[in-house]
Amino acid sequence: MKNLKLPITIDPFKSAQRRLECEGVFKLSGMNRLLAVCESSSEQVKAKFNFDVDERGLNVLSGAGSALVKLTCQRCTEAFEYELKADFVFSPVKNQDAIAELPSYYDAIELDENGEVNLLELLEEEFLISIPLIPRHEPKDCSAPADSVWGELPEELEKPNPFDVLKQLK
Ligand SMILES: [Zn+2]
Repeated sequence: MKNLKLPITIDPFKSAQRRLECEGVFKLSGMNRLLAVCESSSEQVKAKFNFDVDERGLNVLSGAGSALVKLTCQRCTEAFEYELKADFVFSPVKNQDAIAELPSYYDAIELDENGEVNLLELLEEEFLISIPLIPRHEPKDCSAPADSVWGELPEELEKPNPFDVLKQLK
């Protein structure tokens, strides 16, 4: 059951009425925008989606996903494996008016022209957001010299001593 292929698009309103829960995989090769910024390290993306209607009658699409990719360490410039993780709660909406009415704890997700949500794109977007701004190894795994101060300035550089500046002027 775990390797069930997930539907790429789905009608979130019908699915919410059925309280649908699905768990399965997408092909990572289908996420082109993600693969433009990192290399794939596994063929599959694991994901689960839950469709529900909350006590206010709003549609809720929640779920999670993970994928293994390769990022380039900005300290030693070697590639390393990184698990992208996503966790999300959306409320599918039919139009702009519905977005304005959503409580702030839901992010809106708009439907495509067929009234469906693109689950693959939704997850890809979440993965893109979750990529670290400056990817790098854990210090213990990194082959860059241990005394490298990349990414953090020594204390004396961080807080210039005004008297030092005066000394240089003399
Ligand atoms: Zn490194």
